[in-house]
Amino acid sequence: MGGPLKVRASETDRGWICPASLHGDEDEVRVLSQSGEAANLGNAVHEVMARIVQLELEHVPANLVTDACEKYGVTDVDKATMCCWNGIKVLTELRPFVGKESAVEFQMREVLPEGLFELSGRADIMARGIDQRLGLPVVLIVDWKTGSKTEDGRHYNQMLSYASLGLEENQAAQAVKVVLAWLAEGERSVKTYLRADVEKWRNEELPRDLYWDGKSYVPGEQCRWCPRMASCPGHASWVEANRVSVVGWQPSPLAQPEMLAQALAAIPQLEDGIKAVKLAAKQMLETRGEDIPLREGGFLHLVERKGALKVDAAPTLAKLRADFDLTQERLDAMVTITKDALGDVLRDQFPQGEKGKGADKFLAELEASGAAKRQPPVRWVEVRREAKEA
Ligand code: SF4
Repeated sequence: MGGPLKVRASETDRGWICPASLHGDEDEVRVLSQSGEAANLGNAVHEVMARIVQLELEHVPANLVTDACEKYGVTDVDKATMCCWNGIKVLTELRPFVGKESAVEFQMREVLPEGLFELSGRADIMARGIDQRLGLPVVLIVDWKTGSKTEDGRHYNQMLSYASLGLEENQAAQAVKVVLAWLAEGERSVKTYLRADVEKWRNEELPRDLYWDGKSYVPGEQCRWCPRMASCPGHASWVEANRVSVVGWQPSPLAQPEMLAQALAAIPQLEDGIKAVKLAAKQMLETRGEDIPLREGGFLHLVERKGALKVDAAPTLAKLRADFDLTQERLDAMVTITKDALGDVLRDQFPQGEKGKGADKFLAELEASGAAKRQPPVRWVEVRREAKEA
């Protein structure tokens, strides 16, 4: 293949796990993710959020959401609305940095030193300002996410890719703040990087992470999003090896402790095999959509249900009050307070050094009054490697 390898920011974390996923022959069969309800929701929410930023709105206009949902074929309008409200919360935190002069849906591109890679990505918001803490000119990049939040650390390269692209577009900036806003869950991953650190990552770490020796494959969870899966020899060998390890397993007699020990020793490998076979079946169903017949009858079939509806207490109570004649007691009974949210509020109420003690005292008083109830203890069995004390 001639020219630099084209890599999108969103692919760099998968490329770090399995560099082979970014390479391959030009005539190889590639399966690009099909558009589905999840992709449609993403498109609709991105479109509404772009309008909200451009118009500096502090609410979510219902007509914008319904129009976008209709345009992209989204059936779960409530979920799209909730995502946009979570987006407004993020924007409120980012003001005055973000305003109507901020760039939205801005396409960024840069060729990395030595011309090995061409990195690209789209900033859902790009804004400039001065970071008060650092006292430096900074560029802000926001990426709206409508899928489920992945663990922190799983998007390390993606965040740095946005950082690098943002700095390339803004040569005067000495630092960059990247916000991945997980709109379905109302969470965010936020990192601020200095230019020197980003350049080191871009010039040294990234080329090393994405280097492929032309023969090694690292199959796993990420194959699900890999366009090479349909014709990948690494993925095919991995599925076959795990299939054989599960199908070929023979239980040993368990009558004696040593037999039991032998069977226990085989469990980790077998569990890995079972997990991999289930994952491969799921990936095949998701990408090819064909049912898999089961020996005992029936099929393994891909089903999609609406996600659980998460209700935001404050606007819901306001609407209930406005629409119906409900007593305050009835409204209070509907509100559930999570321990995390309560902890956040309590931490703000006590001075530094007394936060933990103050919050514990408040919780103990709640428990004593019956306002907070403790669940029964949870028991589980775990393996302890250390020797038992005599
Ligand atoms: S399908 Fe899996 S193993 Fe094959 S290139 Fe893609 S990520 Fe790597």
